[in-house]
Amino acid sequence: MANSGQKVVLITGCSSGIGLRIAVTLAKDEKKRYHVIATMRDLRKKDKLVEAAGDAYGKTLMLLPLDVCSDDSVKQCINNVKDRHIDILINNAGVGLLGPVESISIEEMKRVFETNFFGVVRMIKEVMPDMKKRRSGHIMVMSSVMGLQGVVFNDVYTASKFAMEGFCESMAVQLMKFNIRLSMIEPGPVHTEFETKMMEDVAKMEYPGADADTIRYFKDVYLPSSIDIFEAMGQMPDDIAKCIKKVIE
Ligand code: NDP
Repeated sequence: MANSGQKVVLITGCSSGIGLRIAVTLAKDEKKRYHVIATMRDLRKKDKLVEAAGDAYGKTLMLLPLDVCSDDSVKQCINNVKDRHIDILINNAGVGLLGPVESISIEEMKRVFETNFFGVVRMIKEVMPDMKKRRSGHIMVMSSVMGLQGVVFNDVYTASKFAMEGFCESMAVQLMKFNIRLSMIEPGPVHTEFETKMMEDVAKMEYPGADADTIRYFKDVYLPSSIDIFEAMGQMPDDIAKCIKKVIE
């Protein structure tokens, strides 16, 4: 349970990557300012987080199951938080999807929107009433540079982040009146399993329906340059976690 003076921070998608590092960074805060509720959809994946958290596990870091695609799971998770009181919500969970739209089923596209867009909407809807009542809170949302600019063969992922940005920009104005901050984070490439999966998907990718120029552009220009950018400028999940810590301090 949080001590008085500690901020309660709930983070989605903590089984790997950026979410895991945010949870560990905040839980290990030298002044113990945060009570971290690290959530993941499958608690069997908790070992990496528990190991990285070390002594903080069970003290400043606790775990709860949460699937952002399920209304019931979201409600149950927030109901399990004492008094439903969350000071800082970090919406990190997300999935990618790569390929020409002709090769992707509508079901797969909906899964991306269910996670990246409706997952965030569900969480905000659930925590907002308590934050409004207390007239305080901070909601952070993990977007991407692809929430600012379209990228070839990332059409659906990009669209899901654009949609979320639009929703959050509109909400931010309404929440401001209740002293609730809404911040968006738009990282460039970050070295996580997300990136590894993306590279595996590229290797397997087929291009039905895509025209020869687009395929050539993707293979000969976009891919080599994005690999260069990754190598030269790719951030580590810890960089993003430290940046978030600065923003909430
Ligand atoms: P990872 O794949 O390492 O982590 C994604 C996390 O989201 C995992 O914990 C995953 O859980 C979780 N997740 C997926 N679906 C759900 C769901 N339905 N409910 C709850 N959790 C879910 O990727 P990253 O750490 O890189 O990605 C984190 C965020 O950062 C994403 O929103 C991504 O769009 C964004 N981002 C990433 C960039 C990058 O280059 N890596 C760049 C810009 C933004 P599980 O293990 O169960 O699948």
